Amino acid sequence: MEITFLGTGTSHGVPIIGCNCKTCSSDNPKNKRFRSSIYVHTDSKNILIDTSPDLRLQLLNNDITDIDLVLITHSHADHIMGFDDLRAINRIRKGEISCYSNKKTLETLKKKFTYIFNNNHYCKFAVPKVKLVEINKTLDFGEIKITPLPVKHNDDIILGYKINNMAYITDCSFIFKSTLKKIKDVDLLILNALRYKRHPKHFNVDQAVEVISNLGVKKAYLTHISHEIEHKEGNAGLPNGIELAYDGLKLVV
Ligand SMILES: [Zn+2]
Ligand SMILES: [Zn+2]
Ligand SMILES: [Zn+2]
Repeated sequence: MEITFLGTGTSHGVPIIGCNCKTCSSDNPKNKRFRSSIYVHTDSKNILIDTSPDLRLQLLNNDITDIDLVLITHSHADHIMGFDDLRAINRIRKGEISCYSNKKTLETLKKKFTYIFNNNHYCKFAVPKVKLVEINKTLDFGEIKITPLPVKHNDDIILGYKINNMAYITDCSFIFKSTLKKIKDVDLLILNALRYKRHPKHFNVDQAVEVISNLGVKKAYLTHISHEIEHKEGNAGLPNGIELAYDGLKLVV
């Protein structure tokens, strides 16, 4: 399984428009962060997690032309506003794409993208063709197994996803015991860490490190990172086995 980080930034992206801080004005490409998303490539399935507002450039920059299914974590703008760009993939596949999430997120998608779901289109590829599917238990595609991971994002319950031996959790402020049980044996955990200060809706670096250490996961990457974390400095402060992810990073698990 090959994982590509398409974006590792928080909702504003990095650099933030109009900000001159040292991260936003850095020349290091690892300080340029699109909105958070990953692409998982396997022999049998190509999976996209979230359709960020930067999706078009993320797919172009990484030469991605094939997506078998999409997993959506939740319906905040930074995770869904590239949804319309899925029509480019419909065109290549000549068919629809299944898009999974929890009931609440699917209902919000239908409300935010009414034009996609009103079945009144002049042209086949004018809007994405997606089949919305609620996920509440493990999907078994033979060698690929996808398990939804309910977590809290302040008061909302949103989804992370476990795909075989890897788990991806973003925008999380609390992980239920039942979800911790499901991820304790993964070989790779990708977890959100917004900044150093606490935030009501997101883990900060200390909270993410604590979760990872308590689980005993050997390899973890932090994502959904704000401009308050400069890549080189941020990485230097992390314990062994935990690193900051960056856009374009590829991992094989
Ligand atoms: Zn977010
Ligand atoms: Zn900045
Ligand atoms: Zn969010």
